[in-house]
Amino acid sequence: MATSTMAQQFRLRSRLQVRGHLVFDTGWRIGTGREGQTSDLGVLLDAAGQPMLPGSSIKGKLRSTCEALAPALNLRACLLNVEASGVGCASDVRWYSRQRESYRQALEAGIEERLAWIRKNTCDVCQLFGSPVQAARLRCSDGTLVNPGAAVVRVRDGVVLDRDSHTAADVLKYDYETVAAGTRFEIVFDLDNPTPADEALLGAALFEWASGSSLGGFTSRGLGRFHLENITLRGVDLDNPQERLRYLTRPRPEDKLNDRGDWQTYFQRRIENHLQTSTRGN
Ligand SMILES: [Zn+2]
Repeated sequence: MATSTMAQQFRLRSRLQVRGHLVFDTGWRIGTGREGQTSDLGVLLDAAGQPMLPGSSIKGKLRSTCEALAPALNLRACLLNVEASGVGCASDVRWYSRQRESYRQALEAGIEERLAWIRKNTCDVCQLFGSPVQAARLRCSDGTLVNPGAAVVRVRDGVVLDRDSHTAADVLKYDYETVAAGTRFEIVFDLDNPTPADEALLGAALFEWASGSSLGGFTSRGLGRFHLENITLRGVDLDNPQERLRYLTRPRPEDKLNDRGDWQTYFQRRIENHLQTSTRGN
């Protein structure tokens, strides 16, 4: 863009919003790390005593899903560890500390140089989820509990096995809280100014979650299986005059955005286009 200025680079140009129901197919737990009301390991509850699904937990899981899928999309994932991944990225604190001088020079040289530095020195996953040098383009809201009556907290027994005798050591018995299968949360992702790579990555993650994944604590014991359903897609393109007017003049947030049609069709097209234009090893 010829008349690029800082204001143009950082203004909101478009937004894509994904809504869906995250449904737990098994019991699940997101722990507090503290004792529960009735057990050794409690689950996270809100002020009204209802189980919570924090946006940070959803985002963390979405990030690890995207990291796992990135290579199949010819995208870079640093795994927050340059040594382990071989991908240089400013999110790795030790790696970034060695690049600070080159980043400082890019900052001084101007906005174009700064953005070019960020594109070169942050992986594709961190460009979506944020890094020390760039805010996240993706936001995850806290889950909204859809069926409070089903979200019953139960206490289970946990047993630590004696590794030598393979018998339960009575002294190491403890119990922990879980929330019942069937708990359903509405979740919302907002993606601002997405790039084609962002949409391909998020789309592939949504297909993965629709088919089923796991979230929270004790997943190795079969807890936390979930799937995503009732996915809807809305958005706004502020370069489109009608959509811009609608966005600026509707008081209710749900009326500001426009239906983007079937999510599978939308993201399948994005993933196909991305794969056609990207090459392995870039
Ligand atoms: Zn990264």
